[in-house]
Amino acid sequence: MPPRTDTAAMDTQPACDGAFELAATLTASEQDVSRMMQICNACRYCEGFCAVFPAMTRRLEFDKADVHYLANLCHNCGACLHACQYAPPHEFAVNVPQAMAKVRVQTYQDYAWPRAMGRLYRRAGLSVVLVLAGGLSLFLMLAVAMSGRLIHAPLAGNFYAIFPHNFLAVVFSIVFLFAILALGVGVTRFWREVSPAREVEIEDQPAIAAARLPATAEAVSDVATLRYLGGGHGEGCNEEDDRFTLLRRRFHQFTLYGFLLCFAATSVATLYHYLFRWEAPYPWLSLPVILGSLGGVGLLFGPAGLLWLNVRRDPQHGDRGQHGMDRGFIALLFLISATGFALLVLRDTQFMALWLAIHLGTVMALFLTMPYGKFAHGVFRSAALLKYTIEKRLPNRLASRGE
Ligand code: SF4
Ligand code: SF4
Repeated sequence: MPPRTDTAAMDTQPACDGAFELAATLTASEQDVSRMMQICNACRYCEGFCAVFPAMTRRLEFDKADVHYLANLCHNCGACLHACQYAPPHEFAVNVPQAMAKVRVQTYQDYAWPRAMGRLYRRAGLSVVLVLAGGLSLFLMLAVAMSGRLIHAPLAGNFYAIFPHNFLAVVFSIVFLFAILALGVGVTRFWREVSPAREVEIEDQPAIAAARLPATAEAVSDVATLRYLGGGHGEGCNEEDDRFTLLRRRFHQFTLYGFLLCFAATSVATLYHYLFRWEAPYPWLSLPVILGSLGGVGLLFGPAGLLWLNVRRDPQHGDRGQHGMDRGFIALLFLISATGFALLVLRDTQFMALWLAIHLGTVMALFLTMPYGKFAHGVFRSAALLKYTIEKRLPNRLASRGE
């Protein structure tokens, strides 16, 4: 049965009772993925490349939920395009990475919370995040300047002489909790759509219960090691041509672990403050500064490398309309690290307040754009990987029926 078509750009419709609901019809991009998956399902040449193809073989038709699931399982390595005998200029025009990329960004919008903010996914481009980071930094600089402390006598790195601790804790807690809530609601909507409880077959329920723990452990391991960026053969992804390279995996690792180390540094500093009453500034060889510095190095190398790869990539791999969103997020991470290091080096000088305002404005811009930018990719992809690791532990109904 051919998929139903709806060429409207947004096909999310409010349900009568206000609950979240997507229209059943496929958009043009979704229909394209569905069409390509039917071709791939007959071909199956790329079966070993990534999780998308084994997941595909468990299906004969691809409805909206299947397309959303597969699109988020794809990490845009480009391997299946370079291997494909049906890629353009062939009349089948199979370009899986590009088709998946177009649907992926649409899913971020469809499941966004609040829904009206979904359009920001398209707008959170490089210029927007730079203007936002610059505007927030300027606002904080003006606030400090009005009290006459923008350029000041050295304060021995005491940030709280500029912005009181409670002010920083309240403002950043609100912004951070909002980002977590928005991402949490979005990914829960996605999960309910791609794994509807009502469709679980009775005989599968014990297998699902047994699979939950090992599947979760496998998904966490796959995310933590960025396993699929190895390309299924360990040699990596395609970037600008047919050659494989592990550079994207390496730069993703720098970025992921850099982000986690910075988060750990902030968590340790929070424990120091509230549990032990040890207040910042912490010495260079203290745990928060060491963790933050290591994380900062990761957030310099990783984003710089990803930006370099992004600019050089084969344009056929992705959706050109998303370049702004990708580059905006990468640039923001780089700026956070660069301004953090500048602050660390200059914290004992008269320029501490200036750099503190710039660094805090940049961090706040990241939190505000996090639910509506590239960060969502990691969250949705982790959910899709979890569904995959559960699903592959269940009997394949198509195989048992001989289809
Ligand atoms: S991408 Fe091309 S080569 Fe790979 S499975 Fe699909 S049709 Fe076959
Ligand atoms: S682009 Fe890479 S991750 Fe996406 S479907 Fe093709 S091989 Fe899989």
